[in-house]
Amino acid sequence: MAEGEDRRRCGFIAIVGAPNAGKSTLLNALVGAKVSIVSPKVQTTRSRVLGIAVEGNAQLVYVDTPGIFSAPKRRLERAMVQAAWQGARDADVTLVLVDARRGVTEEVDRIAGHVDELGNVAILVLNKIDLVKRTALLALAAQLNGRAAFDETFMISALNGDGVDDVRRHLAARLPAAEWLFPEDQLSDMPQRLLAAEITREQVFLQLHQELPYDVAVETESWEAFEDGSIRVGQIVYVRRESQKGIVLGKGGGRIKKIGEAARAELAAMLDAEVHLVVHVKVQPNWIDDPDRYRDLGLEHGA
Ligand code: GDP
Ligand code: MG
Repeated sequence: MAEGEDRRRCGFIAIVGAPNAGKSTLLNALVGAKVSIVSPKVQTTRSRVLGIAVEGNAQLVYVDTPGIFSAPKRRLERAMVQAAWQGARDADVTLVLVDARRGVTEEVDRIAGHVDELGNVAILVLNKIDLVKRTALLALAAQLNGRAAFDETFMISALNGDGVDDVRRHLAARLPAAEWLFPEDQLSDMPQRLLAAEITREQVFLQLHQELPYDVAVETESWEAFEDGSIRVGQIVYVRRESQKGIVLGKGGGRIKKIGEAARAELAAMLDAEVHLVVHVKVQPNWIDDPDRYRDLGLEHGA
């Protein structure tokens, strides 16, 4: 291995594009369904961390820049768009994603028009090539490269994965040499499991606040991501007594069903994925004192 080759790289990649360009689909393809939530500690006001991936010795942190696409009319809207572009400027690489079938819409034109001002590396990614003829793609690439100085152009299908590996490799190579911002275990799905448990616990309290003591606990015991992007989450609600189990289940299981539905909807919105949530209720008098539970949750027992 040549000297310096093992140097770690790390940096931010801002994904910008019109609604429906395929940003969420691409993000899933780039980071895998396993990672899309991270510790809120690292959020910045201008951009939101969407996911982290590792490619060789590089840690790639994907951020979005909310508000970048609206056509601002009011002063506040303009300020928001300004802030969003600042978010893109702060990133090491801007990935401009374009729906190749729709081509250069007004919105795409506006986005491309900002690229040169950013002063960072910008790459153009034409998506949905499975729907477009090669000649049309080349014409589109030429048109957009005439509009802004893109560092590189890629043609991909985020949906079937064509070309996505090339994008990831290129991004990794463009990031600056830097220590990783996130510990390696952040890349596990543990933060997601904890958050998912919190969401369900919140629903238990929202729906049963007067009927239950506060020591109900929720554990995410399984987490399965499927090829089609959907996720199956299994959870257990722990209560101390049989009578509490009855309360959580409700008549004919009606209450737990409502709790599960509300939690599922919130989880699906958070993960931007189809979610199947299966919730069971278990009586376990000593749940709260079980050291193993604490360890599983990444907490110190007795802390
Ligand atoms: P976002 O609004 O930019 O996040 O876009 P989404 O990722 O939600 O994608 C919008 C739609 O485009 C969805 O129906 C996706 O399935 C579809 N889509 C995304 N990428 C591709 C692609 O490469 N090919 C095709 N045919 N459809 C795609
Ligand atoms: Mg989306």
